[in-house]
Amino acid sequence: MNAATHPLCLESVTLTYPDGDRRLTALDEVSLQVAAGELVAVVGPSGSGKSSLLAVAATLLRADHGRVTVAGTEVSGLSARERTRLRRERIGIVFQQANLLPSLTAEEQLLAVARLRGESLRAARPRARELLESVGLESTKWHRRPHQLSGGERQRVNIARSLTGDPSVLLVDEPTSALDHQRGARVVELLTEVTRRHATATVLVTHDREVSGWAGRLLTMADGRLR
Ligand code: ADP
Ligand code: MG
Repeated sequence: MNAATHPLCLESVTLTYPDGDRRLTALDEVSLQVAAGELVAVVGPSGSGKSSLLAVAATLLRADHGRVTVAGTEVSGLSARERTRLRRERIGIVFQQANLLPSLTAEEQLLAVARLRGESLRAARPRARELLESVGLESTKWHRRPHQLSGGERQRVNIARSLTGDPSVLLVDEPTSALDHQRGARVVELLTEVTRRHATATVLVTHDREVSGWAGRLLTMADGRLR
């Protein structure tokens, strides 16, 4: 394993949640290495631990045991503030629902994140447009608000937004669950392309079979175990 070539490494990661007076094991000794420019798809039924896997990789949850290394930094020793910083600078996250802000246009969704990062509007705007273009959103739609876009278009904006900080790691949680099969398949295609172009280490988790025809690395999750 090499941190330079593998921006995301999980080694024997175990995660439990409180469950009455016991603990529920959501991740059971999960190991996963993802190289820059590689997309790994993780398929598994609901409740198998897919979102938990992404939450640990995103440093949103701390593993009970095991090591998580993002862009060469092992996260267990970091303070909450340092983890937030690592997340902001290195990790792009795309959740199931394109949780876009209803009052902002497509372009403004990206600008808002850039502003949080302390970038000037002057620098952020051309970059935002470049990203919207790279995810295939027509320029006539850049000034629309989320309710004026289709589900597939919203997911494209969501993906573009996750790339504003030039992340090394891209984590994507069931991006196709709200889409029909054809649109879902196109989003998976788009993620493949984005992964190559931006050289991200990408993990895509899904319960459905959008990825069944797809030739990349495919792992199965069941009961918190990865195979
Ligand atoms: P998936 O994304 O594959 O549906 P999750 O990672 O959401 O699976 O959940 C894995 C297991 O952990 C499930 O049994 C779920 O009920 C449980 N779980 C998830 N989140 C929590 C939580 N915050 N508290 C307690 N149990 C949880
Ligand atoms: Mg989930």
